[in-house]
Amino acid sequence: MNEHYPHLLQPLDLGFTTLRNRVLMGSMHTGLEDRFYHIDKLAHYFAERARGGVGIMVTGGFAPNRRGDLLPLGSSMNSKVTALLHRHVTGKVHNEGGKIALQLLHAGRYGYTPYCVSPSGIKSPISPFKPKKMSAKLIRSTIDDYARAAELAQFAGYDGVEIMGSEGYLINQFLAQRTNQRTDEWGGSAENRMRFPIEVVRAVRKAAGPHFIVIYRISLMDLVEGGQTWEEVEALAKSLEAEGVTLFNTGIGWHEARIPTIVTSVPRGAFAFATARLKQAVNVPVCASNRINTPELAEQIIRDGEADMVSMARPLLADPHFVAKAEAGRGDEINTCIACNQACLDHTFQNKRASCLVNPQACYETELRYLPTLNKQRLAVVGAGPAGLAAATVAAERGHEVTLFEADHQIGGQFNIAKQIPGKEDFADTLRYFQRRLDRLGIEVKLEHRVQAGELMEFDAVVVATGIMPRTPDIPGIDHPKVLSYLDVMVHKKPVGQSVAVIGAGGIGFDISEYLTHGAADAEHQQWYRQWGVDTQLAHRAALVPAEVAPSPRQVYLLQRKTSAPGKGLGKTSGWVHRAQLKKKQVEMLAGVTYERIDDDGLHITVEGAPRTLPVHNVIICAGQEPNRELAEALRARGVTTHVIGGADVALELDAKRAIRQGSELAASL
Ligand code: FAD
Ligand code: NAP
Ligand code: SF4
Repeated sequence: MNEHYPHLLQPLDLGFTTLRNRVLMGSMHTGLEDRFYHIDKLAHYFAERARGGVGIMVTGGFAPNRRGDLLPLGSSMNSKVTALLHRHVTGKVHNEGGKIALQLLHAGRYGYTPYCVSPSGIKSPISPFKPKKMSAKLIRSTIDDYARAAELAQFAGYDGVEIMGSEGYLINQFLAQRTNQRTDEWGGSAENRMRFPIEVVRAVRKAAGPHFIVIYRISLMDLVEGGQTWEEVEALAKSLEAEGVTLFNTGIGWHEARIPTIVTSVPRGAFAFATARLKQAVNVPVCASNRINTPELAEQIIRDGEADMVSMARPLLADPHFVAKAEAGRGDEINTCIACNQACLDHTFQNKRASCLVNPQACYETELRYLPTLNKQRLAVVGAGPAGLAAATVAAERGHEVTLFEADHQIGGQFNIAKQIPGKEDFADTLRYFQRRLDRLGIEVKLEHRVQAGELMEFDAVVVATGIMPRTPDIPGIDHPKVLSYLDVMVHKKPVGQSVAVIGAGGIGFDISEYLTHGAADAEHQQWYRQWGVDTQLAHRAALVPAEVAPSPRQVYLLQRKTSAPGKGLGKTSGWVHRAQLKKKQVEMLAGVTYERIDDDGLHITVEGAPRTLPVHNVIICAGQEPNRELAEALRARGVTTHVIGGADVALELDAKRAIRQGSELAASL
């Protein structure tokens, strides 16, 4: 029994096989699945995580036939040639003592293809393609294709399959009235709507035999109008158990749901209560999912009997050695997933290879390697923001002698501001992680030391990561006492009045608006469910109830000059949450604004030719940033070898994803 996390790290006996612990790495589409020439990268990606001790991993989705493609000619498991290729993946995983299941995912109407199909011909609000209604014959052959794909997965060496029955994909489309308006034996009554998943599981179990793990990912809360009731979910689970499901993984919300389920602002472990209800209904193990990202929370969920396992997907991207660190009592060294989606899901939805903001090696295991240096150097890294922290720690790990200088009294740079934004508290974990790495690597850190070029002459090279300077726009009255910068608000804690205009609707303008509209009631855990209309009693269809929003403590206007919709440049999978959040708080968002002047009456603007005065107590400037390159220029003038990274390099469209990757890549190359 492990002394640190005894419940989480306890083996799980599945009858014919045993998992070494209770951690399942949930399915993530990384983009490496789609092309055969990425198979070696995929194998290394999984092998690294198997080495890190995870109990079982589930691959990204593989379609059982072409009509089930997520993307044209995307990942599928429908031929022996493909299955043979996958032996490279399963072989490497097994060599590391791991287990892996292939996810069978038929996209249904979420297929981004003109040939997608669904139980009824109803287009999804998030796809441009109208699906073709499946004929009874096609339904039957699709069931056969699932069985064949499971057989091929077995041939490829997988330990099992996960049948994707949640998030609004084909199986979920059969289950919900919203998407299944058939009048034949596959639609209508709840019993008919359940027929498809039941037959799929029956066929898969028959094809794969009794000694093959069959995970079914069940949608516990559809969170869309016309979704399933809890009674239907429970009845389905019982029927599937009878058909031979080995364990239930869980899914929350369809992709088209307008309730956030995985972004940073979703409270940790927010949906474990629903898994606890499922656990009471079935006898096979159940696995909790969504926003579980620390070993403490995972341990608590299992200890409290809410689930038998926990699924962590993104946390294993962020740190492949999550389990091994927990096992060794080094949980504080885990690189915690901050649920930003910026390098994983946002990439997937843009058809780019996934990676991780806090771990740029994710999915680049064979390309971004931190090998011991053969040319040890004395390096100064100036600035302990994300870029400098990444560069300092990777360089030290490779054997360089590193001194890190930071002007502030703490490490972290702008992340110290980000972590104060409601819903971004997890960002503090990135700084905890870096602090532990600095300690373990024995890096000399000089805080409260604003370094000058002259002090750095004895170093072999200097990495300048001095970040940015906030931009001050040229608006008449910009030095009026009611004007504050975002640093005045967040760092200097200057008082802010009852009505506010925020100039600049970029990432920081949105965050500051969320900070200013967050009231005391919002801090209460249950308020999150009320605000988004989540029925924690599971008494209403699809777990939806009317939302109850706590009023904002102040009136906020959020402004930009561009005529595009404010927030358009925010993350693909998280931007809508920020926009919805501010709308709930009655923030008035204005685009196409010209700033005329600021005076005692407020902020004078013109919108579409019409003058308007916003009678605000404060104007807060979030108008972008400029690189802070003073030190870099001084060093270069003195002939010092100088590398410039992060905001100090390019401030435009800078984010921590670029800062950390650039710092890591530079340090890997020195
Ligand atoms: P910085 O973080 O600016 O760090 C530079 C450091 O250098 C500072 O600590 C500074 O004190 C130090 N320094 C400067 N000059 C000297 C000197 N001469 N000597 C010693 N030290 C010096 N990004 C995201 O990706 N996702 C988000 O959700 C996100 N949210 C944000 C929310 C807010 C409110 C803010 C303000 C930023 C957010 N960001 C976010 C942006 C992200 O924090 C930055 O892109 C990132 O911090 C840039 O890293 P950096 O290391 O280049 O610079
Ligand atoms: P930003 O995203 O570039 O936004 C700057 C805003 O200021 C824009 O709305 C811009 O819109 C406006 N602006 C620019 N120049 C101006 C001027 N001269 N006068 C008036 N307005 C001006 O920058 P940011 O908000 O400072 O954020 C910095 C970086 O941090 C961003 O690149 C972002 O990626 C990152 N960040 C990310 C997140 C996240 O959730 N992913 C959150 C916070 C920050 P107009 O030009 O149309 O007026
Ligand atoms: Fe987590 Fe963000 Fe990394 Fe995705 S990119 S795994 S959400 S930290």
